[in-house]
Amino acid sequence: MHDLPERDPQAANEPAPSPVARDVLGASPRGIWSDVPDALWNDWRWQQRNRLRTVADVERVVRLTAGEREAIAGTAGAFRMALTPYYASLIDPDDPDCPVRMQAIPRAEELQRHPADLDDPLGEERFMPVAGITHRYPDRVLFYVTHNCPVYCRHCTRKRKVSDPHSAAAHDQIALGLDYIARRPEVRDVLVSGGDPMTLSDERLDQLLGALRRIPHVEVIRLCTRNPVTLPQRFGDETIAMLARHHPVYVHTHFNHPRECTPEAARTLRALADRGLNCANQMVLLKGVNDDAETVRRTNVWLLRQRCRPYYLFQADLAAGISHFRVPVETGLSIMRALRGPVSGMAVPTYVIDAPGGGGKIPLVPDYVESHDDDAVVFTNWQGERYTYPAR
Ligand code: SF4
Repeated sequence: MHDLPERDPQAANEPAPSPVARDVLGASPRGIWSDVPDALWNDWRWQQRNRLRTVADVERVVRLTAGEREAIAGTAGAFRMALTPYYASLIDPDDPDCPVRMQAIPRAEELQRHPADLDDPLGEERFMPVAGITHRYPDRVLFYVTHNCPVYCRHCTRKRKVSDPHSAAAHDQIALGLDYIARRPEVRDVLVSGGDPMTLSDERLDQLLGALRRIPHVEVIRLCTRNPVTLPQRFGDETIAMLARHHPVYVHTHFNHPRECTPEAARTLRALADRGLNCANQMVLLKGVNDDAETVRRTNVWLLRQRCRPYYLFQADLAAGISHFRVPVETGLSIMRALRGPVSGMAVPTYVIDAPGGGGKIPLVPDYVESHDDDAVVFTNWQGERYTYPAR
């Protein structure tokens, strides 16, 4: 587990500020960018233009290990590195195991291929009737609209195509995807994903969401974006208003650690919620980042305060080069057991494993049933106390 920066005393489990102070969220320290004017720092295009992409860029912020240098060079052709200045400013420069650093800067282990690794761990290509559409479940599809992200997460499940210009979703491909959805009346829910769809311009997003909204049977649009974590500046008032024009739109995001729980992220989540863009968090269980109950708890109670519901806790999948992030399923189950009871059920996500090869999501639940016969079911509660309920 890692200490928090000073920027969010509540997430650090320190005394809560007064209600007034809670609304004056402040800003994160900017490290080497402290001289950058607010107008630039808060401009998402400036953040995109000034991303760290090379060893020399990153070494302005952290002292790289030999393994990290080797891994940056070794992964550049397959899954490149990029960090927004904002996300890089969250890194503890003196901690080689900083959870933000681990998620954003390649490590030597990423170059190793584990025997269980799969190129397409969720079998998405197998369920792809047309390029860019994954149709695995009856009533919903995943719509791949871009290969770009502001930060390339080292644990990405889709690293086989994300960041690769050859996997760009061209206009024709997006048109084919829209056509597929329009011809399938059973599709009532579309997950707009990538890559990160918020890397598209507002104009393109507006066109895309508008085209989906014009399909009568599309009831729900879900926008899958890590921008609230890696580039919260992306959500200006006009952008949020544009998204809200296409309601019902849900936002699925991906906070993994309290270091990511900043005033900037809080403001973005609250602004989205204010416009009815309900946010849900999809955390990935990562060794050395959040593989303990207290880190998950602190992140989740912070998310709830920003009106973002902890939705899933994902067992890391079998994507190539991420075996160093995977933890035993037993660790995830023990985290779930530790969460249930001490915190509200609102802060307890569903722990799932996305079955390798495309079997879909399978919930993993700690076993609270001690025995079950014709007369009674015997349970243990979160405190280990035993209770009996009639079997029928
Ligand atoms: S934001 Fe999502 S799609 Fe992009 S690199 Fe991270 S996990 Fe992968």
